[in-house]
Amino acid sequence: MTRDHTYILEAILEIITDSENPDQSLDRIVQMIARRFSTDVCSVYVYNPHENSLQLKATVGLNKASVGVIAMDVHEGLTGMVIETMAPVFIVNPSLHVRYKYYDGSGEEVYTTYLGVPLIYHKKVLGAIVVQTLAEEGIGEADIPLFKSIASQIAATVAFTVLQGERQGVAHDEALRVIEGTCDTLEVGGGQNHLRGDPVSDRVATGYADYTFKTIDFHQIHRMGITDVGAEVTRLDEAFDTASAQVEAVAVEARDISDQERAIIEAHLMYLGDPSLRKKIVSRIKERVSAEYALKRVILDYAEMLTAMDDSYLSERSLDILDIGRRVLANLVGLGSDSGQAFTQDTIIVASDISPVDLLAIRQPHLKGIVLAKGGRTSHTVIMARSLEIPIVIGVEGVLDHVRANDYLIVDGISGLVYPNPSPDICEEYARRQEESLKVRKRQEGERELLAVTTDGVEMKLGANIGLLSDMMLARQYGADHIGLYRTEFPFLLRKSFPSEEEQVALYTRVLEKAKGRPVTIRTFDVGGDKFLSYLEYPKEDNPFLGWRSIRLSLDLEDVFRVQIRAILRASAFGKTRILFPMISSVDEIRRVVALVNDEKSALDGAGVAYDRKIELGIMVEVPAAVPILDRLLRYVDFVNVGTNDLMQYLLAVDRNNKKVAVHFNALHPAVISTVHQIVSVCRQFGKKLCICGEAAAVNESIFLFLGMGADHISMVPSAIPDVKEFIRSVSALEAKRVLAEVLKMEDAQEIEACLMDTLGTAVS
Ligand code: PEP
Ligand code: MG
Repeated sequence: MTRDHTYILEAILEIITDSENPDQSLDRIVQMIARRFSTDVCSVYVYNPHENSLQLKATVGLNKASVGVIAMDVHEGLTGMVIETMAPVFIVNPSLHVRYKYYDGSGEEVYTTYLGVPLIYHKKVLGAIVVQTLAEEGIGEADIPLFKSIASQIAATVAFTVLQGERQGVAHDEALRVIEGTCDTLEVGGGQNHLRGDPVSDRVATGYADYTFKTIDFHQIHRMGITDVGAEVTRLDEAFDTASAQVEAVAVEARDISDQERAIIEAHLMYLGDPSLRKKIVSRIKERVSAEYALKRVILDYAEMLTAMDDSYLSERSLDILDIGRRVLANLVGLGSDSGQAFTQDTIIVASDISPVDLLAIRQPHLKGIVLAKGGRTSHTVIMARSLEIPIVIGVEGVLDHVRANDYLIVDGISGLVYPNPSPDICEEYARRQEESLKVRKRQEGERELLAVTTDGVEMKLGANIGLLSDMMLARQYGADHIGLYRTEFPFLLRKSFPSEEEQVALYTRVLEKAKGRPVTIRTFDVGGDKFLSYLEYPKEDNPFLGWRSIRLSLDLEDVFRVQIRAILRASAFGKTRILFPMISSVDEIRRVVALVNDEKSALDGAGVAYDRKIELGIMVEVPAAVPILDRLLRYVDFVNVGTNDLMQYLLAVDRNNKKVAVHFNALHPAVISTVHQIVSVCRQFGKKLCICGEAAAVNESIFLFLGMGADHISMVPSAIPDVKEFIRSVSALEAKRVLAEVLKMEDAQEIEACLMDTLGTAVS
């Protein structure tokens, strides 16, 4: 038996090229795999989203007569579980598993091992490949990576059979929709199983659905006459008092939030305590209208007046007014009374959307997860939920229709699946996974002090990427060696105006204090692209990522930029600080930046203000133009951070936020690897420090290559650190160097991925 990765993938390609049709290809592929791996069964199932069933398409080992006949309900059986979770399932003694189901006529025996891997094409699950063996040593968990690449090879063939509309009862156009990714992969509704959203977390939560944040808006309020003015004024006072108490409770509870986050809360409290606002509403009530209607009129007029002032600061204040108006309104109509309440059971908030202030208000040990119908990946709520380690799934269409209050939910923030009232087998499977990940986390906790050293003694320093002050707790908890990237724009985004110098000094100083001597790389604010400040007017741009973004914007807003540079310099007196400038693409830019820094240093010297005179300056290398001129850019700085997110976006011409082209956003593209390699080599040649800090720095395959290049600092989301440390401790730097040399000669990402899976499949196990 050979498990040579490249050989098997080549054999599959050969079969596909030589076969007359996709059916024949699948038939020959399952035969080849069964032979090569000595498995007793190898089958391919095709998923029919129309009927939510699986059909046997090709098999060795099961009854051939059942091909095209056996249709399995996705809610049943182990292969159904592969489809539901879109992840490999490996089980020893499958017949003992609660999800096991015997199908009459399948000719299935009692097998000892079961491995099912989903066939995924353009992020849609099209079916599964399943292997089973009678012998226990036949197939193991270590084979999963190889079977994942086999599955990705076969997926295109299955997609083709789907395209041909060969699946029973599925029309050609629907088949096309499946392939193009425009149809839901699994059904929801009566007899439903789960809902799918956007995964933005690395955790799973369970609990009971809660609609505390059911919102009400002013357009739902109509004029209503009243007779008892006194009673109406009392209702209004109570609603205001409750609203103040709710927001004050947030302020008291949220002790560990930054000054910037606190500023939002304080603005709300100020309006709630403003007597003139209440007076205006009361005089409206005296016109014998309901408190709700009076509130609506005053709040909308107030907001309109602020908006009309044609001042971005004041028009932003109108949003504050609307926010607090809605809160008072919710209290008036009896919707808001629960928001300050303690949950008595494990709770999942289900809402259309919630504000970061509401999230801060409601956080408590019983709040286990959040499911939102709306929501953006970079929304403040998502950023905050991640800081607070609350699993969250966003963009779950239909959640408000399909989930009722008190439904039991599993919220899988990793896959984006939400299971309302899941069946016992799904619960059992998730409980098992939770138990496993708990065990892994416990074990990793014990390894927190271990260094990330390869088997041949090369150390990689693991840093944390942070955005909020509260992330510092996570950085410490997960054992970060340094703060490789502090994205300062997040506090800017949470505010209603640019933070003052004093506010920034206070914030950065707190970050440095919490870092307890670990170096902190503070990146100057990177806004524009997909992060817009509500208080800054932007030009209308067709391509904001290619437009007024990042350092270009900072240099144009020189006063604001100088304030930040001064604040970072002043904070540097309190801990090891480095300043990082994003999106540098020319020598001229870095010259201007360095001149500003020098200017500010002289001003501080003149005023006798302390700062770290040896503070290091660095640039993000994330625009491809910086790479060929890196030797010249390095004359002006001490270190480089590689931002693989933007580097990939600009190098490959793939919008990093566009789902439609996500398949092209591949860190294993040979151009990405060669470019990062070039950056690392130039930095080594000129003796400059380097840290890789995009999302790729948390992915094993990429890390292995970075190690091979000689990179010794990487930085990532804090919760990824334990897994990455474990990975680094399991591989050899020498081997990484050897594999990198091979990879640098390869033609495409598929070949590179196959090579890495082959190497790491054996290296990791
Ligand atoms: C990057 O571009 O890789 C990076 C780390 O910066 P950001 O994700 O903030 O653009
Ligand atoms: Mg970037």
